[in-house]
Amino acid sequence: MDCLSIDIRELEHESCLLERIIPSRKLNLDVGQIRVLEKARVSLTATRETRGVHVRGRVRADIQMTCARCLDLLPYSLVAEFSQYYQSNTQHRMVGEIGLQKKDTEVGFFSGDFIDVSDIVREQILLNVPMKPLCQEKCKGLCPYCGKNRNQNHCGCEIIVVDPRLAPLLEFKSGIP
Ligand SMILES: [Zn+2]
Ligand SMILES: [Zn+2]
Repeated sequence: MDCLSIDIRELEHESCLLERIIPSRKLNLDVGQIRVLEKARVSLTATRETRGVHVRGRVRADIQMTCARCLDLLPYSLVAEFSQYYQSNTQHRMVGEIGLQKKDTEVGFFSGDFIDVSDIVREQILLNVPMKPLCQEKCKGLCPYCGKNRNQNHCGCEIIVVDPRLAPLLEFKSGIP
């Protein structure tokens, strides 16, 4: 993994700037309907502060999602910015509840000389994926009866199943822009 570790010994005198390209298979991210294509790009700055290390960065990845209505594949360029404060595990024990003082940034922990930022990269990608992606605002979705993509063809199923008493309702519905 290595590729997403920060060696804190390098931060003694100055901030450290990292640019990393992570192949998607190393992200272990193929959850549900999201897939990272090829790779994610991470750039970050790590700065030593009195009681820990502040890591600020940006993740960029081209991902592929599926439309929530018609299940078509959708490309999406994801950009996520993050700011995370890390404390050493050992130090944390000594200073007690210090973690609670930093309110706006969650505190992460590390042990030894390395901070592994792969978790936050993964987390940031997941957090910044649109919840209900649509291929187009007016995506018509799949026909609930025959399963065809209604953006591509008009299957005509509604006509067969609609109860005549509900027809006025349907007209009303289709009048909504
Ligand atoms: Zn769609
Ligand atoms: Zn149909």
